Amino acid sequence: MRNIVLIGMMGCGKSTIGYQAAKQAGCPFVDLDTEIEKDAGCSISEIFSAEGEAGFREREARMVRRWAGRAGTVISTGGGVVLRPENVERLRQSGTVVFIDRPLGDILAMADTGNRPLLKQGPEGVRALYESRLPLYRKAADQVLENTGRRGEAVRELVRLIERERRDHLRLAVIGDPVAHSLSPEIHLPVLELYSRDPAYIKVEVPRGSLSDWVYRVRTTGVDGFNLTMPHKQDIFPFLEEIDDAARALGAVNTVVNRGGRLIGYNTDGDGFYQSLSRLGRTATGARMVLLGAGGAAQALAVRGAQRGLGRLTVLNRSPEKAAALAERARAANPALETESGGLSQPEIRAACETADLLVNATPKGMEGAGEPDWQDLSFLEALPQTAVVCDLIYRPAETRLLQAAAARGLKTQNGLWMLIYQAILADEYYLGHSLDRDDMADRVFGRLQDKE
Ligand code: NAP
Repeated sequence: MRNIVLIGMMGCGKSTIGYQAAKQAGCPFVDLDTEIEKDAGCSISEIFSAEGEAGFREREARMVRRWAGRAGTVISTGGGVVLRPENVERLRQSGTVVFIDRPLGDILAMADTGNRPLLKQGPEGVRALYESRLPLYRKAADQVLENTGRRGEAVRELVRLIERERRDHLRLAVIGDPVAHSLSPEIHLPVLELYSRDPAYIKVEVPRGSLSDWVYRVRTTGVDGFNLTMPHKQDIFPFLEEIDDAARALGAVNTVVNRGGRLIGYNTDGDGFYQSLSRLGRTATGARMVLLGAGGAAQALAVRGAQRGLGRLTVLNRSPEKAAALAERARAANPALETESGGLSQPEIRAACETADLLVNATPKGMEGAGEPDWQDLSFLEALPQTAVVCDLIYRPAETRLLQAAAARGLKTQNGLWMLIYQAILADEYYLGHSLDRDDMADRVFGRLQDKE
C-alpha cells in the first residue's frame, strides 16, 4: 500500500483522526511534528525560538524526505508542510494526500496554542493564515475529508479511504529461489485486477538465508503480501507475528499478509487441492484417498485432508518409512481417520486402489523435465471402482500418462493446474480481505492461461 498523507490547518484533527483510523485499519501511524521534536530533542516552540520559522521548515522538509521514502503509513503533517512545493511533490509521489477540512470557527474554538507558535497571533491572524493556506491544501490534495466535529464519522471515513487505497494499489510478490519459472503473476493478476485498480504482482528471487532482508523490505516499502515457494516455506516462521491453523499444522507457509507491519502466515496448498475437487463434484468428507508420495505436496493433502474429514487415507511412497510417518501425522490431526501406508510396488498400489474413491499422484513421476522415470505399469488403475476419480498434481504436461490411462478407463480426472489455481484464489481472499466466487475466478484464471498458450 502507498502512504496516506494527512494535510490541513493546525487543529483540524489530522493527528487524532489519523491515529485512530490507522489503528483500526492496522497501519503504522506517524506524526511528523512529533518526529521533528524527537529529532531535535526539544519542542516545536523551542525550535521556533532558537531557529526561527526557516529553521523549523528545514527540519520539516528533512522529515518529509525521510517518511515519504517509506510506504504503507498514515502520515500526519504539520499545517505548513504545503508551503514548500518539494514537500508536496514528495508526499504526492509517496501516496494519497488527504486534506482534512475543518471549519475555521471550529479550529479557533479547539486550537491549543501552547505548542503551536503560529496560532498565538490571535483570531484575525489565524483567519489570515487559514485563508492563505486553503488554496494550497486544495491544490495538494487528492481527496478531501470533511471534519464537521463528529470525530467517529471522520475516523470511519478515513478507515474506508485507507482500505480503498490498500485494495487499489495492492503490492504483492512471490519469492523463491529459483522463481523465474513461477506462474504466480499469471494466476493472481486476473483475479486481483477485478478488485484492485492498480495491482502489482512481481517475482523476487530471494536466496536461502536472505529472508530477513526481504522481510525488512516488506515492512518498509509497503509490500502488502507475498507467496512463498522453495526454499522459504518453513524458514519464514520466525519472522511472522501470527500463523493460522493450517500453516501451523503443516509447518509450512505459502502466503503472508502484511497488516500494518504485522506479518500473518497462511497455507492454502491443501485447501487449494480440496477446493479444486469441487469441479469433479467431490469433497474430502468421508472420502477414501490413496496418496502416492509423501513429500511437501503430499503432506499438505494428507494433513489438511485429515482436518477436512477424509474417511480413510492410504499413503504409498518410494521410501515407505516416510509414508508411515505421514500417515501418522495425518491421524494425529484427526484421530478418527483410518490410515494405512506402504511402498510404491504394483501390488501395494493395486490393493489400495480396490476400495478407493480418490487416487492422487503427488510424486514427480510423469512430469516434463523432472528427470524421473514415468510409471512403468499403470495396470493398478484397473482396480479402481468406476466411480473413483484420479488426480495428478503435475500440470506439465497437462495430461500425464497416468491421467490419459485413467480417462481411457472412463474415470474422471483432473491435473495439478486446478490445485495451483485454487490455492492462489484462496491466497487472494486473504490479500483482498473478502471471499470470492472461487469457481468463477478459477474459470477466469484458466481462460487467461489458455489465451496465453
Ligand atoms: P518433494 O517434497 O520433493 O517430494 C517428492 C515426492 O515424490 C517424495 O515422496 C519422493 O519420494 C517422491 N519421488 C520423487 N522421485 C520419485 C521417483 N522417481 N519415484 C517414486 N517416487 C518419487 O516434492 P513436492 O513438492 O511434494 O512435489 C511433488 C509433485 O507435486 C511434483 O510433481 C510437483 O510438481 C507437484 N506439485 C504440484 C503442486 C500444484 O499446485 N499442482 C504443488 C506442489 C507440488 P521419497 O520420499 O522416497 O524421496
